Amino acid sequence: MKPTTFEEKIIFSGPVILIVFSFVLWVVAFLLDVLTNIPNLLVWLPMLGIQIVISTTYVILINKLHFIAHNDQLTGLCNRRYFNFMLAKEISRIQRTKSILTLILIDIDNFKKVNDTHGHLMGDDVLKKLGYILKNNTRNIDIVARWGGEEFAIILVETDLDGAKIFAERLRKTVENYDFGFQVTISLGIVSTCDDLSLDELLTQADEALYAAKEKKNRVISYSKLGYLET
Ligand code: GH3
Ligand code: MG
Ligand code: MG
Repeated sequence: MKPTTFEEKIIFSGPVILIVFSFVLWVVAFLLDVLTNIPNLLVWLPMLGIQIVISTTYVILINKLHFIAHNDQLTGLCNRRYFNFMLAKEISRIQRTKSILTLILIDIDNFKKVNDTHGHLMGDDVLKKLGYILKNNTRNIDIVARWGGEEFAIILVETDLDGAKIFAERLRKTVENYDFGFQVTISLGIVSTCDDLSLDELLTQADEALYAAKEKKNRVISYSKLGYLET
């Protein structure tokens, strides 16, 4: 990633800045100590203070950059890149521990019409509110992401298909009844790892379940060995 903003430039050159600044401070403190009669503590303490301020600022900037790299700017949810990373990590974890997870893909119904009728700003507002609803209705251990455009994704950790179906149907109703200023609905496709699916298979099945849900819209479709079923 090429640094573009001032903050990013500072972060990327941070290690060099810290070393050079520490060295300059050390030389200044050393000269003051040797050449003047100022008490030791009065020379070294301010230098220590300055170094602490610089290091703290650097940590804050690193955290900010971490947030920018992993989160979607509009909704604050995880971005797709970070979501993929977490999904791969979770899949290898559950294969080790023989536990379970469920993946849910969500698509806002007729979102183009929202933009066309109410404008892009109102469209953005719907995306933000939906992001908030998703975050508010999941646990801290679950991973919620903006998959792209008007699509979202959730990893429900330690949740089987039956539990996820209940959750997804509740979420669908919550969105249906939420006051966006106009009616907004979502379609959801869900798949669970109980069938020992790989990452690619899991994404494909969830995508196909979502595709099936989109046929009628405002619906939850789950994938299992029995096929695609409406909740
Ligand atoms: P369907 O029910 O079949 O999903 O139809 P749809 O209109 O929701 O889907 P479609 O793919 O036709 O249109 C998606 C729209 O989402 C088009 C695009 O302009 C809009 N969109 C994508 N990202 C953003 C965004 O960040 N903000 C806003 N306001 N609109 C966005
Ligand atoms: Mg879509
Ligand atoms: Mg859509």
